[in-house]
Order: sequence, then C-alpha cells, then structure tokens
Amino acid sequence: MNSLINYKKEELEEHITPKFRVKQIYDWVYKKYQFSFDLMKNLPKDLKEDLSKNFSVLDLEIANKQISQDGSIKYLFTLKDAHTVEAVLLKMKGDEFDTSGKLIKEAKYTVCLSTQVGCKVGCSFCLTGKSGFIRDLEPAEIVAQMLLIKADNNFSVEKGVNIVYMGMGEPLDNLENVVKAIEIFAQKDGMAISTKRQTISTSGISSKIDKLGKLDLGVQLAISLHAVDNQTRDTLIPMNKAFPIETILDSVRAFPIDTRKRVMFEYIMIKDINDKLEHAKKLNKLLQGIKSKVNLIYFNPYENTEFSRPTQASMEAFKEYLNSKGVTCTIRESKGLDISAACGQLKEQKKSVSHETFKTEEEL
Ligand code: SAH
Ligand code: SF4
Repeated sequence: MNSLINYKKEELEEHITPKFRVKQIYDWVYKKYQFSFDLMKNLPKDLKEDLSKNFSVLDLEIANKQISQDGSIKYLFTLKDAHTVEAVLLKMKGDEFDTSGKLIKEAKYTVCLSTQVGCKVGCSFCLTGKSGFIRDLEPAEIVAQMLLIKADNNFSVEKGVNIVYMGMGEPLDNLENVVKAIEIFAQKDGMAISTKRQTISTSGISSKIDKLGKLDLGVQLAISLHAVDNQTRDTLIPMNKAFPIETILDSVRAFPIDTRKRVMFEYIMIKDINDKLEHAKKLNKLLQGIKSKVNLIYFNPYENTEFSRPTQASMEAFKEYLNSKGVTCTIRESKGLDISAACGQLKEQKKSVSHETFKTEEEL
C-alpha cells in the first residue's frame, strides 16, 4: 500500500476534500506523531475508513537502537520488504544551564538519514559500498526515519533538528525521491525543517550535482573528496573515472550556495594513502576560489580491510596546514560515538571495532 507521507500537502488536497482535512491529518502525523488513522479523533468515520483502505502511514519500524555515551542514538529500521537501514540522531551540543540550573540553551541535534538500501558506488573504504546495492528508498521511507526518531525522543515539532543525507546510500543516485523528501521536510504545515538546514553528501556524481543545483532548493552541499589526485581517487571511488576531481569542482563552482554558507569537503584520512602534508598542500590549491570548509574524518577500520587508521599527529598536521592557509578545517571527533562510523558505515559495522562505543539500552 502507498504511504501517505510520500505526498506533499497540495498533492493530498487534490484527493482529500474538504482541504482542511489534510491540515488535520498533517497535524496528527507531523506534530502529534499519530500514525494510525483510527486514532485521528477529529476525522469523520467514513474518511478514516477511506484513508485506511488507500494509504498506509509508516512503512518502517524501529528494530533496534543503541545509545552512545554522548547521547547520540543509532537506529536500525526494518522496511516493509524486511530489508533494513539505519539512521543516527547525533547530539552536537548538550543542554546548557545557568548557575541556578535553569535551562538556557537546548541541545542541538542532527539526524543522519539513509537514502538507499546499499549503494551502487562501491567505494573501496566503505562497508555499505562493499555490500552492494539493493534498492532506492521511497520519499516516505526517508521521511519516516525522521518521524520515528522525533517521536521516539518526544521532540516537539518546533525543536530544530538538522538533516544530513549521509547514511547508507548515495543520495544523488536516488535524486528524485531525495528531493521529494527534502520538500516534504520543509513544508510549513509539516516538520518545517528548512532546506538550509538539510545537507546532501555526495561521492561526486557531477551530472546530478548540476541537476540538483538547477533546482535551486537552498540545500547545503557536502562533497566526499577523500583524495587530491585522480590516480588515488580512482582507487577509492571507482566512479571518479567518469567524474574526475576537476569535473566535480566545476560542478561545485556552479552550484547555488547561500552567500553566508560554504560547501563542505569531507576527507577520510587513510594511513599512507592520503595523509601527508603534500596532500594538504594540494587540497589547498584545489579549493582556491571555492567557499569551502574541510571536514577530516579518521578512516574507521573494519575486518579484512586493506586500509588503516591514520595517526592523530598526521590529522593534526593536515588540519594545522589548512588552517594556516585560511581554510577552515575541522576533525570529526570520536567521543562517545564516532560520527563517521555511525553515519555511513552502518549496519555491517556491528561486527567491527568502533561499535564498541555503543551501548544497547539494556546496558545503560
Ligand atoms: N554516499 C554519500 C553519502 C554518505 S556515505 C557519500 O559518499 O558522500 C557515508 C559517509 O560515511 C561518508 O561521509 C563516507 O565518507 C563515510 N564513510 C564510509 N566508510 C567509512 C570508513 N571506513 N571510515 C570513515 N568514514 C567512512
Ligand atoms: Fe556509497 Fe557513500 Fe559508501 Fe561510497 S562512501 S559506497 S558513495 S555510501
């Protein structure tokens, strides 16, 4: 059955009359997290029956969740065809209190969402890529990850939560459905998560970056660069042969970006592959003229990988060099939860090293 949350408000208004009923349904789903038509008290009985015959609401459920020491939570979801995907609620900053213990600033959260089951791109360092591609997620399956996480944490609709499309899958390989999800998230009468607070991370499908740019949605862009020369990048991301670094950077330059924002370049540091000062120098040159910020990520090792984690000293030196040249560069920290491990290397990660940083609910 087709999910109701595949549709924008105006699309539903074409089928459900009078229009104000759609607003009521929206309030139930997106504000009160009520996902059963039966329990939507202010709808007439015949409409509830009609809706139940024609639509489902949530086509996925929480199968498992793991809470890290810093309060971030990793969710495993089961889809209607029994496949699973993961999403992570990342606690970026904790609540802040004044001296009397009064809450003065609420914690900041970001949710990392999956866009596909598996991934076609097949990056050699990525577990999702290694497990192959199964299928695209529908818009409703992307939206539902967020709805379930908000409901599970009793977040009010007003609570500002940012979105990064950095979970399983290559968002631009499922562009149409991801764009629909972005628009559904941004709807004023729904979750009202503006497009500015949503970031698409891509391994660099230039043709699709161009297409996304033309839509001018106002979304933020993150490029998984990971290497500064095509020879190395070819070995990490096979698609680099079709869309080499220069082509990607041309697409980035043409991408419409809010004047106050910058494009994020993600760079997984892998020992002896891309972690030397010469690479930092080349990166600085490549990024000349692009309003950018660099996010360094420790390669997170797993069983049977040919790659290793870089040293802290090489990460710091890389970062210091870029900073000294005026390029903003941060290192993705792994406190309670290694964000890179949580987000992207999902599912299969269970067997591997950084999974130890998670505790199941029962353990806490
Ligand atoms: N497919 C998109 C979207 C996210 S991929 C992209 O490649 O940009 C998932 C994220 O996990 C990316 O940021 C990727 O760089 C990161 N990742 C994958 N494998 C990793 C590993 N072994 N160690 C650290 N980060 C990894
Ligand atoms: Fe796909 Fe991204 Fe993993 Fe590459 S890093 S295989 S693009 S999910």
